[in-house]
Amino acid sequence: MIEIDFYSAISIFLSVFLLASFFYFIFTDGAKRKNTSLDARYLWHCSVCLHAYFDARRSSFSHCPKCGSINKKDINGKAGKDAL
Ligand SMILES: [Zn+2]
Repeated sequence: MIEIDFYSAISIFLSVFLLASFFYFIFTDGAKRKNTSLDARYLWHCSVCLHAYFDARRSSFSHCPKCGSINKKDINGKAGKDAL
């Protein structure tokens, strides 16, 4: 049987736990970043308050989260005052 003292056991346990946490964070964070992108189609500019925001829904209308006004995109994908 392998004999180790208390402090060695604690340090081995903490090392394994920290390595597992590190690799879990790396792999799960990397998987999330693959699905996240800032596509220009989802970037909106409010025509009233000029607030820029991100709306991933595929609709031609969007509500501004800051002032609540309705914004519209035209066929070319331009949003805000130019689209109206
Ligand atoms: Zn607004």
